[in-house]
Amino acid sequence: MDQLTILKLGGSAITDKARECTPDIPAIQRIADQLRDYNLPLILLHGGGSYAHPFVTRSSIDRGLRDRSQLRSIAETEFYLSQLTRIICASLLLRNKLPVPFHPMSFVTFDEGKVKRVLLDPIRKALRAGLLPLLHGDLVFDESQGIGVLSGDRLASLIGLRLGASRVLLGSDVDGVYSENPKTFPNATLIPEVTSENFRLVLDASRGPSGDATGGMGEKVRQALRLAKNGCECYIFNLREKNALSRLLERDRINGTRFVPWKNSRKSSRRSRRQA
Ligand code: ADP
Repeated sequence: MDQLTILKLGGSAITDKARECTPDIPAIQRIADQLRDYNLPLILLHGGGSYAHPFVTRSSIDRGLRDRSQLRSIAETEFYLSQLTRIICASLLLRNKLPVPFHPMSFVTFDEGKVKRVLLDPIRKALRAGLLPLLHGDLVFDESQGIGVLSGDRLASLIGLRLGASRVLLGSDVDGVYSENPKTFPNATLIPEVTSENFRLVLDASRGPSGDATGGMGEKVRQALRLAKNGCECYIFNLREKNALSRLLERDRINGTRFVPWKNSRKSSRRSRRQA
């Protein structure tokens, strides 16, 4: 799809991860402000942040469904995730943007942790009608493990590849990928560009423990690389940085990590779209 951008709002940038089910309303409003005048095709995704991770890790549903006591956590995760979706929808509607929510649990299934089925027609139709599809990282049913976690980052690469997005923007609470976690190592340096030459170094830098149900920076980097290898440009950037989002949407340079599409990768992209 021409000029399609996928934008993921990281849970760390739109919620207070230290306090259960606590949105960062000013941050969400600043994001909505920056989207107000953007009129090219866009799909928005959001992470779960403190609306999902506490329930998922407490009941270990990220490791599959083993007993009935976990069912309550599934219901709670879905309930709270849709509350966060509604908060984002309200901010957008107030600015005359027209979001329609799609919950991946209803249109994606897994088998052994891998995507088995996905139905994207309703999202395509919403886009064509001029609406703003709003999706989120979610729990999805898994044929062999009962349940699995489809992270927002993985969802971004899945739909980015299947819908042929021209770029995928992964917004978080740090400027991009650093040589080490910048929150624990203040002297860490930002890696501005990731190519087929330096990607191993970047994978190593992001591999640290995350304590997060969806794999933290390591998962973000793996999904960004998957996109770049298949010809789709990807950025990891700071959504909390003033106007970084609007400048990136306008294709201005910002402080961030750009994953450069690999050469000759368009050849294999049709195949990978089917496999994504
Ligand atoms: P989000 O919720 O926005 O998707 P995560 O919390 O999952 O983001 O991942 C972002 C976090 O990853 C940062 O807040 C940072 O503390 C951590 N991190 C770990 N290693 C790195 C690294 N090498 N570079 C940047 N951030 C890192």
